[in-house]
Amino acid sequence: MSPIRLAIIGLGKIARDQHLPAIAATPGIELAAIASRNATLDGVPHFPTIEALLASSQAIDAVALCTPPQGRHAQAAAALEAGKHVLLEKPPGATVSELAPLIEVARRSGRTLFTTWHSRFAPAVEPARAFLAQHAIRSVTIEWKEDVRVWHPGQEWIWEPGGLGVFDPAINALSILTCILPRPVFVTGAHLAFPANRAAPVRAEVDLTDTAGVPIRAELDFLQTGPQTWDIRVETDGGSLTLSSGGAKLFHDGAPLIDEKEAEYAGIYRHFVDLIANGRSDVDATPLALVADAFLIGRRSVVEPFEY
Ligand code: NAP
Repeated sequence: MSPIRLAIIGLGKIARDQHLPAIAATPGIELAAIASRNATLDGVPHFPTIEALLASSQAIDAVALCTPPQGRHAQAAAALEAGKHVLLEKPPGATVSELAPLIEVARRSGRTLFTTWHSRFAPAVEPARAFLAQHAIRSVTIEWKEDVRVWHPGQEWIWEPGGLGVFDPAINALSILTCILPRPVFVTGAHLAFPANRAAPVRAEVDLTDTAGVPIRAELDFLQTGPQTWDIRVETDGGSLTLSSGGAKLFHDGAPLIDEKEAEYAGIYRHFVDLIANGRSDVDATPLALVADAFLIGRRSVVEPFEY
């Protein structure tokens, strides 16, 4: 079979850091075009927008949407209507409800829609899921604390409605949580701190539980200086399990079980190729629904303005 001809839409940080190398390393898929308003890549056909790309004679089979979430729905709908397979960066959109029409078009057109959650491909996730399936869970603590100035320099879209603020990274923790726990979880309370000049939170605490009543607490901070923390700690009847560094490391009662170099995006592209080959989609909005619920139910406070 000839390789899937893929276009990247939005050649920004994540597209350059992760998508380009993963595409180059994945059999069965190749980079055929870029659609980005400003950014270009030597030797690769360039279009300023996805609309210009789809209206052109450039042959592509699929698109990877690496733009900010606020504009994704229109781009994904246009691509699916044009008969292209669609890979969505996380979060899959700016709202939960915008996914239903995309699922419908993908089904009607027989194309693949893939809502990626890159953290679910981290090496600690599957061993943690298998461990937790065998043990009684007593509590879960999430600490997701990073410095927005280091990891998202100058990204104004992250502070706009739909940009999620501190939940842009923290949704990765929720994507892991909803993958490793054996039962569905739901939000019971939240507190969100909004900078006076911004439309998205800079800090948050979220309380969740599951159908067995397990207490789950998430503490999120976008202004963490010094050591950065992307940890999920689960207390069980079989000891304490800690996924650390966003799921790159796994500890049991403090002893290291896994410490691997991340290969999340290689897993994403292998899965995308497989989904297309088998005519399937993989759509899960659960982590985004939890964020939406935290916004729905959360008490809000206004804190000092944020500037980069
Ligand atoms: P980014 O560096 O800002 O890149 C997004 C690119 O999209 C921009 O460079 C821009 O390229 C294009 N774009 C199109 N419309 C835009 C608009 N209205 N505002 C800003 N840019 C626009 O963002 P990113 O960090 O790559 O994040 C993109 C998506 O990937 C987000 O959903 C994010 O959550 C996800 N993600 C990011 C990371 C990370 O570590 N950064 C990790 C995993 C997932 P042109 O100017 O050329 O159009």
